[in-house]
Amino acid sequence: MLPSILPQKDLFALVRIIQESRHVVVCGHRGPDGDALGSCLALAEYLQQLGKSVSVVLPTPFPDFLRWMPGTHAVQFYVHHERQATQVILSADTIFCLDFSQPSRLQEMQGAFMRSRATRVVIDHHLAPDLSMARLVVSRPEMSSTCELLFRVLLDLGAFETLSRNAAVCLYTGMMTDTGGFTYNSSRPEIYEIISMLLTKGIDKDRIYRNVFHVYSTDRLRLTGYVLYEKLQFLAGGKAAYFTLTREEMQRFRFIRGDAEGLVNMPLQVKGLRLSISLREDTERDVVRVSLRSVDDFPCNRMAEEFFNGGGHLNASGGELPFPLSEAVRTVERAVEAYESLMQ
Ligand code: 5GP
Ligand code: MN
Repeated sequence: MLPSILPQKDLFALVRIIQESRHVVVCGHRGPDGDALGSCLALAEYLQQLGKSVSVVLPTPFPDFLRWMPGTHAVQFYVHHERQATQVILSADTIFCLDFSQPSRLQEMQGAFMRSRATRVVIDHHLAPDLSMARLVVSRPEMSSTCELLFRVLLDLGAFETLSRNAAVCLYTGMMTDTGGFTYNSSRPEIYEIISMLLTKGIDKDRIYRNVFHVYSTDRLRLTGYVLYEKLQFLAGGKAAYFTLTREEMQRFRFIRGDAEGLVNMPLQVKGLRLSISLREDTERDVVRVSLRSVDDFPCNRMAEEFFNGGGHLNASGGELPFPLSEAVRTVERAVEAYESLMQ
């Protein structure tokens, strides 16, 4: 049996907030991934079962490969629908923030969020939460995913029995995507207890895996080949690798949102490689999006904070640079040089 995760005080506070809520907004971070979307959809489903009116509002769309997830048709986006989304946010009495714990991760939606007078609850597994952003902050950085944490919270709320299959699918998806299909950050036994409980809800985990990881377009597969053959550069005597992707290259391979996902993990298949970095021109703004992945104890998050205006987890972090790719490459070279001693 999994022990309870919330102290009594927090559990009571949460129960009370939920009881008193009527119009709930559930939101996740900009550029939502499987964990952000999965946790939002699962919580929305639970609150809907309780009879609440619930809207999932995300700053920007989720990648196409997550469209199959149950409940995505009702998700609202802030970009291109600013007025409508702002109205929804301002009319909520309660806002749940999932998979982020710093308002800045909402980017363009942050203004509307800060203007709202709703009671806020944060449920998240990122480091360094801003404790002032919500009445209740449930922060557990030791958890592999927000979906794992949300499952534990739902368990504390006594919601397991009535948890729907759809919610179970969403929770499993987030746990799976934030651990690369349970290949990193995934050695805590509780994770597998949760999985076995989710399986009793009738989820098909093999199918979920295929839905997420085996849905490449032919262009996406060729983009992989192109990046690995033509673009990949090694630094620090083969301990680190990086590649760049320009807008023009993305157009050439008919890039769609989500196509970059997973590419940055591939160089880690090289024996002895500790750190992989991708630099990608953003399709909408004049910035370079940076993704970092590492193995063992190499701290990507420290590097992301120090060099890439970002942060994240020990083995998976991100950030962005406000200058051209060529300059971004120099930043990578400097960062790798500064951290080379940690790659031995
Ligand atoms: P990805 O490379 O998939 O975009 O991001 C990996 C992880 O890095 C995310 O789950 C998130 O924790 C973190 N991350 C990505 N971008 C940013 C950013 O701009 N700022 C911060 N603080 N963390 C980020
Ligand atoms: Mn997450």
